[in-house]
Amino acid sequence: MRRKIIAGNWKMNLTPREAVDFANSIKSAVDTDKADVVLCVPAVSLAPVLEAVSGTNISVGAQNMHFEDSGAFTGEISAKMLVSMGVRYVIVGHSERREYFAETDEGVNKKARKALAEGLVPIICVGETLHQREQGITIDFVRRQVRIAFLEISQEDAVKCVVAYEPIWAIGTGKTATSEQAEEVCAAVRQVLGEIYSVEVAAKIRVQYGGSVNGKNASELFSMPNIDGGLVGGASLKPEFADIVNH
Ligand code: PEP
Repeated sequence: MRRKIIAGNWKMNLTPREAVDFANSIKSAVDTDKADVVLCVPAVSLAPVLEAVSGTNISVGAQNMHFEDSGAFTGEISAKMLVSMGVRYVIVGHSERREYFAETDEGVNKKARKALAEGLVPIICVGETLHQREQGITIDFVRRQVRIAFLEISQEDAVKCVVAYEPIWAIGTGKTATSEQAEEVCAAVRQVLGEIYSVEVAAKIRVQYGGSVNGKNASELFSMPNIDGGLVGGASLKPEFADIVNH
């Protein structure tokens, strides 16, 4: 039985002080018996939010990392640095990073491998554009993204990963995929993972849906057989995040 995992992606929002205030309000409102809860906060807020949630079952995640250990990569942060702080998760390949920062499938694979090597859980994001959906190539496109993301990842490491299926047309638009649309692609993600590894391994990997999840639609989406929780953007910055976890 896969445990649900709800991750909030705060994106580039909140100062460290605001982040601590919000984390404090969330910490008493979420029921961590219902799901694994992860707050993916801006890099400057990692340390204060880690402190704010210490002693709870809430985990903290980064929104990005570099795949090298150290070196001349101005502005970047390594997996080792994140782990040394107590960070447990990292989002890799979010569509905003693919779109605005030219991240490729190959780069996503390098980041996922490095995250795993250092003991971080990568939340690997995949998802199609509206154009791709209209062309009828959603499943082929997402299958390819998953195949490349998992290249050279052992099955022991694969089961630690989280995949977030996020249709780009549903991110930050208020347009949620129907639970049937989300389930269809999450099931396809699990199927390709089954082809790469085995059905047994694929059955252990958690697949989230992301894209305008809110307090009202979460329960239906997360009740689908292949959807193991959500990656939540906008609503993760509101008290509503607790309703999504506690639904
Ligand atoms: C996201 O950024 O991963 C996301 C799903 O955003 P939103 O919930 O705002 O659509």
